[in-house]
Amino acid sequence: MAEQIKATNITWHHHTISKEDRKKRNGHGGAVLWFTGLSASGKSSIAQALQEILFEHGCQAYVLDGDNIRHGLNKDLGFSPEDREENIRRIGEVAALFLDAGFIVSTAFISPYRADRNKARTLCGERFIEIFVDCPVDVCAVRDPKGLYQKAREGKIPEFTGISAPYESPANPELVLNTAELSVEDCVRKVVEYLQTRGIL
Ligand code: ADP
Repeated sequence: MAEQIKATNITWHHHTISKEDRKKRNGHGGAVLWFTGLSASGKSSIAQALQEILFEHGCQAYVLDGDNIRHGLNKDLGFSPEDREENIRRIGEVAALFLDAGFIVSTAFISPYRADRNKARTLCGERFIEIFVDCPVDVCAVRDPKGLYQKAREGKIPEFTGISAPYESPANPELVLNTAELSVEDCVRKVVEYLQTRGIL
C-alpha cells in the first residue's frame, strides 16, 4: 500500500484552538489507549467499561472498535497481511485525529504486527499508550464469545490470529492487563490509575 501523498496543491491548516484550550475545556488531556491482544482477550469489554466510567466523569471518551470499523471505514479490507497493515494504518490516523480533538480514545483491534503498532505510536506521539491485553490463546478459545475459534479450528476462517496467523506481543507496552487473572473492573481500575499517574486524568 503506497504511503506517499498522491494529491497535489494541498496545504496543512493549523487549528486556531490549541491543545491547552481543549484541555482546559475538557478538564483532562487527550490520549490514545491502544488495546492490543488476541481475539476474545477482552479488548472491547475493557475499552467499553472504561469508556462508561470516563463518560460518567464528564470526559471526552470514545472507542474505535474492530468490528464496527470494518463495517464502514475499512469495509474494503480483509485479513491478508497487507490489508491488516492498511487497517491499522487507517485506525492510527483516525486515533491521531481524536487525540488532536482532545479525546481519550481507545482502540480495540487485534493489531497483531509490532511494526504496524509502532507506526501508530510514531504518528500519535508521547500520548500513545499501548495496552497489552494478555490472555493465553487456550483461555480465549474457551471464551470464544463470537464462535470464531471454533470456526478457525474447523478451517472455516483462514488467517485467524493465534490459530493460523501470527500475533506479535508488544515488546515494551505501557501497560499489561492479564485478563486470565484480572476481572474487567480490575483492568479498568489499572488503566484509570495509569492515566492519573501520567497526569492525563
Ligand atoms: P476482544 O475485543 O479482545 O475480541 P471481547 O471483549 O469481545 O474481546 O470478548 C472477551 C470475552 O471475555 C467477553 O465475553 C468477556 O466477558 C470475557 N471476559 C472474561 N474475563 C474477562 C476479563 N478479565 N477481561 C475482559 N474480558 C473478559
